[in-house]
Amino acid sequence: MVMDEGFRIIGSESLKSYESSKGKLRYFCKNCGSQIYAKKINTPHVVLRLGSLDTQLDLKEQKHIWYSQKVSWFDLDSKIERCEKFE
Ligand SMILES: [Zn+2]
Repeated sequence: MVMDEGFRIIGSESLKSYESSKGKLRYFCKNCGSQIYAKKINTPHVVLRLGSLDTQLDLKEQKHIWYSQKVSWFDLDSKIERCEKFE
């Protein structure tokens, strides 16, 4: 998650969006279909797909979201906060 004021995208002409649910736009590359980020109206942030980054990310994880939806075989060995949903 990245706050709007810290988010800038270069090459936005290569993006298309799809409203996957009311008020939530998912942006993806119109050439290869890769998901880039999602934006829900009236929220102060975007949800960035980390797989879209091509630079080193110098941040640490802060919490696990949608923990209630994890697959049963995924054994989470972490002490950080677990949120049942995206809070
Ligand atoms: Zn692409």
